[in-house]
Amino acid sequence: MHSQSALDPEVGRELYQLAQELYPICRSITGEGVRRTLKRIGDLVPLTVHEVRSGTQVLDWSVPLEWNIRDAWIATTGGRRVVDLRDSNLHVVSYSRPVRARLGRNELDAHLHSLPDRPDWIPYRTTYYADTWGFCVTERQRAALDDAEYDVCIDATLEPGSLTYGEVVLPGNESGEVLLSAHVCHPSLANDNLSGIVTLVGVIQHLVRKPRRYTYRILFAPGTIGALTWLATHEADVHKIVHGLVVSCLGDSGTFTYKQSRQEAAEIDRVVEHVLRHSAPGHRVRRFSPDGYDERQYCSPGFDMPVGRLTRTPNGEYPEYHTSADNLDLIRPDALAESVDIVVTVLEVLDENRTLVNQSPKGEPQLGRRGLYRTLGGLPDSPVLEQAIRWTLNLSDGRHSLLDIAERSALSFHVVRAAACLLTDHGLLAGQLGPVR
Ligand code: ZN
Repeated sequence: MHSQSALDPEVGRELYQLAQELYPICRSITGEGVRRTLKRIGDLVPLTVHEVRSGTQVLDWSVPLEWNIRDAWIATTGGRRVVDLRDSNLHVVSYSRPVRARLGRNELDAHLHSLPDRPDWIPYRTTYYADTWGFCVTERQRAALDDAEYDVCIDATLEPGSLTYGEVVLPGNESGEVLLSAHVCHPSLANDNLSGIVTLVGVIQHLVRKPRRYTYRILFAPGTIGALTWLATHEADVHKIVHGLVVSCLGDSGTFTYKQSRQEAAEIDRVVEHVLRHSAPGHRVRRFSPDGYDERQYCSPGFDMPVGRLTRTPNGEYPEYHTSADNLDLIRPDALAESVDIVVTVLEVLDENRTLVNQSPKGEPQLGRRGLYRTLGGLPDSPVLEQAIRWTLNLSDGRHSLLDIAERSALSFHVVRAAACLLTDHGLLAGQLGPVR
């Protein structure tokens, strides 16, 4: 059950190219890396950039100082750089305070992070809320540091500034909103970060061309503190969010994994599970847990929003996660295109899920007289459509939505909706169907 509007096969290639462009940028939870990333996204979709000043109280947190980095290296006392930010922006622990010093080898070692099991990979580490500094290196680089002393430099600033997030709002016919959210705070990491960003760009490019029932609000925000900042500054609007999805890790070749909202049987949960059941063999569904990405904030008990999370292989469950091996080789154009297609299909089902009422409920209406029975030979799936017509007539008693009918009949939502369209056209169902997309 893929989206009714077949996606351009070019979509995956374009989104992959966008990931390639964004990959080298040194993002963190604040600073120029996020601004540059949002500026590029804003070339492609109608994005508004918001800046929230350092020190602003956001729920139980406050917006941190702004971090920017120009250069960082470890060099021999003779001036030869042996670790260099210019080779990989993972080399410096994100949010390191500035440092310039000559250190003994052991003293330096206390500030190094490496992966003994993966001697060629650089780990990704952060120190957002602790005043320290460090370098991330490959195990081989670390082993090769056998001089007595080294010079280290982290040419960074931690100063009052702001936290930056981006928001796209696409108005719909109804005031209810659908929230889509991706984090934008990781540096050169492809699946964890960029795949979610570019998937949402692809989804927005699809949505802007279509009639919309709901209003769509798409957030590109630094993880945790960005979501907290948005929640703190939009507390009065949170009730408008009727469905939501956090996305990440959508570019690898793994099967889809859906993590339910805290509510567990919200419409978003049922719709994503329905779409995956019909379109994504081998998919997995998990119950909510208070870990992972920004679903932790949206599903905190004071908000308890109907927000689920869609990934392929989840965070922490692939070996390349949070290392330099989560690079552009790990993500694939076709996987990105399919991820866009799944999200778009979910949004179509949400948009089109209505409850209609059978106008001829006493006995079955005579379908043959109306051209709705055994006259559908031209349609390849006519037996399925006939089944869908019978189910839709029977369950459209004002208490079952089209999604209820699809689940009860084990038919796909799209065939049930096609049946509902036919029946509405023939006056056998009443109620409002969404715009045909
Ligand atoms: Zn991460």
